[in-house]
Order: sequence, then structure tokens, then C-alpha cells
Amino acid sequence: MVRTAHHVFLHTMALIDLHTHSTASDGSLTPAAVVRLARERGLAAIALTDHDTIDGLPEAIRAGVEEGVEVVPGVEISARHPGGSMHILGLLVDYDDGLLDRRLAVLKQARRDRNPQIVAKLNSLGIPVSLDEVEAVSGGGQVGRPHIARALLERGAVRSIQEAFDLFLSNRGRAYVGKFRFPPPEAIAMIRESGGVPVLSHPFTLNVHSVRELRTLLVDLKRMGLAGLEVFYPEHGPDLEGLYRELAKELDLLITGGSDFHGDNKPEVELGRIACQGKITHELLDALKEWKMRRDPA
Ligand SMILES: [Zn+2]
Ligand SMILES: [Zn+2]
Repeated sequence: MVRTAHHVFLHTMALIDLHTHSTASDGSLTPAAVVRLARERGLAAIALTDHDTIDGLPEAIRAGVEEGVEVVPGVEISARHPGGSMHILGLLVDYDDGLLDRRLAVLKQARRDRNPQIVAKLNSLGIPVSLDEVEAVSGGGQVGRPHIARALLERGAVRSIQEAFDLFLSNRGRAYVGKFRFPPPEAIAMIRESGGVPVLSHPFTLNVHSVRELRTLLVDLKRMGLAGLEVFYPEHGPDLEGLYRELAKELDLLITGGSDFHGDNKPEVELGRIACQGKITHELLDALKEWKMRRDPA
């Protein structure tokens, strides 16, 4: 195909989204439904980046072929970071060779073990809630603390969901069980070993309070293999966006952007309609592909 300058312009400026969630983690739409919505909203490409799992990718990729939307295989891994939360996106991962799946299985098992541990602690505190009750209120899908809170409310052990968290389930609660998380170097390494581009998501959730501290942390992460920074994000606003863009430039990190769409589970974020959507264009994805290709030439 002969590509005219106009074609190239349309391609690089097409709107995309490099951060979305489906029912494979805590989104409310199935992977195929996320892709369909992306087509309806005029997005040329989306990355499906479910928390700690790549289970939704085959369905999303198939839907992408049907809908004519480019689906970027991705994942969002939670890494250990005391004082805040550190999420690392893996974009353009090789998802079908089993390697990444095996690494992520550790997290799946940890998540499965966690609910019984919390329930056992509650039982030892004299609250006779059962795992069956918790699963009954969850209605299938990932089961977690919000469902345990609802089960406690339903059996009258607490007066509100908030109270369930305050007394028992929050990290200061009496039945708290810590989550297993990979140390950052491990999370980054497993993304790179799977052919992916590691990108730090929404840097503000690190809870780092000075620019100097953030720069130091980013330098460390880059040394571990971090390749990019999520600059465009609904909650960043112009100031943070400007700061992150500067830091990305200074530290030679790729720039990405995404909505962190979760469907009805985060209703304030609408796919394809976030304030910074106009800045999230296909040329960001082209730069990620170039980085990946330079790293492992086919
Ligand atoms: Zn995140
Ligand atoms: Zn996310």
C-alpha cells in the first residue's frame, strides 16, 4: 500500500487508550464489550491492562479483529511500595507463550488464599461469617474485601460497609491480611522477559511528596528496566501532566496515556471521553513498538 503523508497523519493522530480494565479483573464489561465500546467511541487502538492477569487478552484480541480495533496486549502489575501504591503497566506483552501466565499465577494463588485467611481471622474474633456467604454476595467473578464487608453487614456484624473496613478489613483493621506484591524489580523484569514495555501507571498514587523524591525513584526504576511513564491520565490535571512530561523527557522515558476505564465500577471515567483524550494518539503506541523492536529485533 502506498502511504501518503495524509494517511500517515491520520494514523499517528488517531485516538487510542493504553489503560483499560475488563471483567477479567475489576472492570464491569467483558473484554469483548470493552473493545466494542472502543469502536463505538472511535478509538483506533486500546490496551487491555487487567490487574495481575492476562486472562482477558485472547477474547479482546479476537474482538479486536472483528471490530477493526487494534488491541494491545497488556497487564497492570501491583508492585510493593510502602506508603502508596505502585502499578506497573506491561504493554505489548507476548501473552500466549505461557511465560507471563506462569509468573502471574503466584498472584492468583495469593489472592485465592487471602479471603479464607481474612475469614479465619474474623472467625477467631468471634464473628461466624463463612466463605460461602462471602461468595454468595459476590455473584461470581473476583471475590475480595468489599464482598466480605457486605457479608458482615448482611449478618448484622457491622452497621455499615465503612464500619466493616474501619474495624476489620482496612490495613488497620483487626482481620487485615496483607496482599502479596512483587518487588518492583521483579515486576519490571517479568514484563521485559515477556517482551513487554514496562510503564509506571498514574505516578501520583506513589504518594511521593517532592519532585526530587519522585525523580530519584524514577531513576531507580529506570535502572531496573522501566521504559515509560503514564503522563496522560484523567486525575493528573495540567500541573501533574506537565511535571510528568518534563520528567519523562529528562529521564528519556516513553510517554503513554490512558483512561483506566473500569466501566460501571468507576463511572466517572468514560471510555474515549476523558479530558486529556485528544493527547493520547497512535504515535505514542508507535514509539512503544519501536522500543520493543529495537530491544528484540525479529
Ligand atoms: Zn492502577
Ligand atoms: Zn488500572
